[in-house]
Amino acid sequence: MESLIHLYKIGHGPSSSHTMGPETACNYILDNYSNVHKIIATLYGSLALTGKGHLTDRIIYQTLKSLNVEIKFNFDQITTHPNTMVFDLFDFNGNLLDSLKFFSVGGGDVILDGSNKKIIKKDVYPFKSFDEIKEFCKKEKISLCELVYKFEGTDIKKHLEKVYETMESSISNGLTKDGELPGGLHVLRKAAQLYNSIELQESSDIKELRLVSSYAFAVSEENASGGKIVTAPTCGACGVLPASIFYLKQKNNLNKEKIIDAIAVAGIIGNVIKTNASISGAFAGCQSEIGSACSMAAAAIAYLKDESVEEIEYAAEIALEHHLGLTCDPINGLVQIPCIERNAVAALRAIDAANLAKFLKGTRKISFDTVVKTMYETGKDLSHEYKETSIGGLAKNYKKEG
Ligand code: SF4
Repeated sequence: MESLIHLYKIGHGPSSSHTMGPETACNYILDNYSNVHKIIATLYGSLALTGKGHLTDRIIYQTLKSLNVEIKFNFDQITTHPNTMVFDLFDFNGNLLDSLKFFSVGGGDVILDGSNKKIIKKDVYPFKSFDEIKEFCKKEKISLCELVYKFEGTDIKKHLEKVYETMESSISNGLTKDGELPGGLHVLRKAAQLYNSIELQESSDIKELRLVSSYAFAVSEENASGGKIVTAPTCGACGVLPASIFYLKQKNNLNKEKIIDAIAVAGIIGNVIKTNASISGAFAGCQSEIGSACSMAAAAIAYLKDESVEEIEYAAEIALEHHLGLTCDPINGLVQIPCIERNAVAALRAIDAANLAKFLKGTRKISFDTVVKTMYETGKDLSHEYKETSIGGLAKNYKKEG
């Protein structure tokens, strides 16, 4: 398993696989080729079908602004990976210098095709499954966050601190804005409205639901408008973890150190999913984005409530299990409907999952590894239409109504 630095990336939305991944590919070209004059970038699969809404073209033009760039959208050709992009590089005389095929595999990561061209990241954890991690923690008598610091070194805390600070800023920024989100769908920002309605509520339960939702909306609306967020584990699902941990921090007056530890715990869950399944909606549907985010958040909450590794696993398992089969069908290819509300619903679900795990302590029948494997298989079986193509589900029916 890789470092949590690769899971939690700080950057601009709206999509880790459709903006951050292509940006990484473009930067790879800039770093490795000096005599390029023109580039033809061809986008395939989900990158072609939702690239405009997800601002893929904008980030490519922006990153390669010093070069002559042409972007083509190939809607028809089926490629081995649903997020494929090919960059043909030409010199000043029009000679083809190289043709690079990248796969944007989720969370902003890319793989360069070809045996000698893989962008390889070093594994820092000698584990593949949650069972292995749990066994190690039990043997060494350490917690999940101590495992992170043991294998990553305490320097990772600095990154996680920045991660938390960015999460907090995205909440405060999102809560102060109103008006329409960009993209032409005329979706209004609702975070501030939710937040400001809290004091009018009499029931403390409703107040809490509104508060968590307002935080999730704030971050997701920041993402939808290209604001600065953290992939947790992706841009589309970036509101779930911040909303739940910020809510608990405020409610229980938790210190920053404890919150950073909780982000480390959530990172282990995200990493196990990323290693054994996928965190890409284009590969496995929204269960792999929002489902993974909910699972990470449930683990973080269980940790913040001082639960054991067993109950942290139970909370993460419940959260992912009840997102199995969730499709990705963003309307007009924008990360707005269903994405923004879905972040709020998942943040609330993460709290429920952690509470249920506490209540049902010791009765778990399904391991976290089993549910991750099931999510992966379900994702492979999901119809192509439901994997970030905007040609199925809500995206299709909305067009009919509209
Ligand atoms: S529906 Fe889910 S997976 Fe698809 S873009 Fe929205 S948040 Fe991401």
